[in-house]
Amino acid sequence: MRKLYFLLPVIFLACKSGTSTTKENEVKINAKPLEISYKVRENEISDFLKYLSSDELEGRETGTKGIEKAAVFLEDFLKKNKIKPYFKTYRDTLTNFESPAFNIVGVIEGTDPQLKKEFVVLSAHYDHIGLEKKEQADKINNGANDDASGVTSVAAMAKYFSETKSNKRSILIVFFAGEEKGLLGSKSLVEKLKKQNFNLYTQLNIEMIGVPMKRDYLAYITGFDKSNMAQKINEYTGKKTIGFLPKEAEYQLFYRSDNYSFFQAFGKPCQSVSTFDFENFDFYHHVSDEFKVMDIPHITAFTQELLPAVTKIAVSPTQEITMNK
Ligand SMILES: [Zn+2]
Repeated sequence: MRKLYFLLPVIFLACKSGTSTTKENEVKINAKPLEISYKVRENEISDFLKYLSSDELEGRETGTKGIEKAAVFLEDFLKKNKIKPYFKTYRDTLTNFESPAFNIVGVIEGTDPQLKKEFVVLSAHYDHIGLEKKEQADKINNGANDDASGVTSVAAMAKYFSETKSNKRSILIVFFAGEEKGLLGSKSLVEKLKKQNFNLYTQLNIEMIGVPMKRDYLAYITGFDKSNMAQKINEYTGKKTIGFLPKEAEYQLFYRSDNYSFFQAFGKPCQSVSTFDFENFDFYHHVSDEFKVMDIPHITAFTQELLPAVTKIAVSPTQEITMNK
């Protein structure tokens, strides 16, 4: 997540925000969710996240040697899982950053001759804030939660679609660089896609899902009121997967991650899903945001629970997720 300047330590000490809101209660649950037999594997989630947040990658700051290692790792992952590059290669060079920087972009073509012309974007940013300047025992901001956790979940979803071929629409898998520098990777990519008349249906961007919230729903989306995304996801999963977190509205998180660049360019439902609620994680942009504080069963369960939703998004005959008027 892009730096929250107003996120002072005092916020973590602030008392727990009020009880459930009317918005949470509005969420309707469908009796007939999509059944998915595919199982996301905990050991694969763990291995992937462990490497991406390891000290070797030195905090994955855009333009550094560390993020280059991450880029190679992500390219290898896509290739190994038979996901094709969207451009000539997996690398999409940022047009708005001085030293070489790359989004990593793959595509899983849809199986329906008509629907495959429409795209669902699944994304997360793989850059983080790098090394601390001042001398201290641990200088590496590993960014395990922010946002190696999101990248790990998106990678697992990509693997699922590649193996099961259960998407009628095409799916664009995007790992953004430059998010922490001001959403640069997504701003650069949307310009290119706009020029190609990219036919976007919706984007799900996954941000900071490394630890669970203590709430009666699994995750929240940013910009809850902007579309019917939350209601549709819950209908598709048959669970209280997405709820309304008042703090996301208060801090306007909708504008603080790569979903915003896509929303601005396409005016479609483009939102971030997160389980960071300002109460469950003390290490936002901190050197202690490390693999060892990540909850692997939670990340696995989160990804598993979203599979029926992303599948329905990719197969529904019409575009059911729409902007609210
Ligand atoms: Zn961040």
